[in-house]
Amino acid sequence: MKVISITPRGYCKGVSKAIKAVKDAVNDNSIIKPIHVLGYIVHNRHVIDELSNLGVITHDDSQKSRLELIDDIESGTVVLSAHGTDPLVKQKLKEKGLACIDATCEDVEKTFKLISDYASKGYYIIYIGKVNHPEANAAISLVKDISLVEKSDDIPNEITKPIFVTNQTTFSLTEIGSIIETVIQRYPNTLISEEICNATRMRQQAIIDANKDVDLCYIVGDPRSNNTRNLAIISDTITKTKTRLIENVGGIDDRDLKNVETVSVSSGASTPDYLTKEVIQFLKNYNDGK
Ligand code: SF4
Repeated sequence: MKVISITPRGYCKGVSKAIKAVKDAVNDNSIIKPIHVLGYIVHNRHVIDELSNLGVITHDDSQKSRLELIDDIESGTVVLSAHGTDPLVKQKLKEKGLACIDATCEDVEKTFKLISDYASKGYYIIYIGKVNHPEANAAISLVKDISLVEKSDDIPNEITKPIFVTNQTTFSLTEIGSIIETVIQRYPNTLISEEICNATRMRQQAIIDANKDVDLCYIVGDPRSNNTRNLAIISDTITKTKTRLIENVGGIDDRDLKNVETVSVSSGASTPDYLTKEVIQFLKNYNDGK
């Protein structure tokens, strides 16, 4: 069995920066403890567990907004994740006297600035993103005239203002095209700034390029991670390769390896590389044992 280790894969610059921000805060004696994170710093259970062992408290509750989660925090320093944050969160932290470290990725910040700039020029914003994703939630909190569009059916009718379209940085390269096309058909003078970040773009493209004659593809990552799920969808639907999204080596089912001659492996931007390497090593050893 041939094992293709797809690159680039794994941590992007934004994820590396966010995790480093939390670890630096833990190690810096001048920073008020405990260290809290609102929501998951990145969508990966293994990363959250590792930080928890360092004393970091992650606040996450699907029934509560990030604003509401602050009610549970009485002291310490709050780190904001790479996904960006509703400005009211920062305001509430300040009002409560809590220190704040903002680890928003610069690519997300760029998109947020575009939204604010165009809204202030009188544009209506169509933001292509995933419902309930923290980055999308933060984006739609920035201005009043904005709609979150996950699929073409969500595009609002009868917008009378000029329209500006942008998107969640981790959206799927293959899904965004048809949504943008539909917006243009309905509103021909729309202004568009497609903002899928380079890390997402390169990881998605690498899978399309690698999965030529591949029998099986493993995507290593947390199912809650949007960019990880997108990689699995692209592998499955675009490259038409049998695909398994697994959290770690324990997710490999031997039955899937039957009659497999070539297997490829990639991982989401929030997946620690050691988890992917363990999968690759397992598959290489499995090959050796045949
Ligand atoms: S996936 Fe892209 S936008 Fe998101 S943190 Fe990584 S580099 Fe930044």
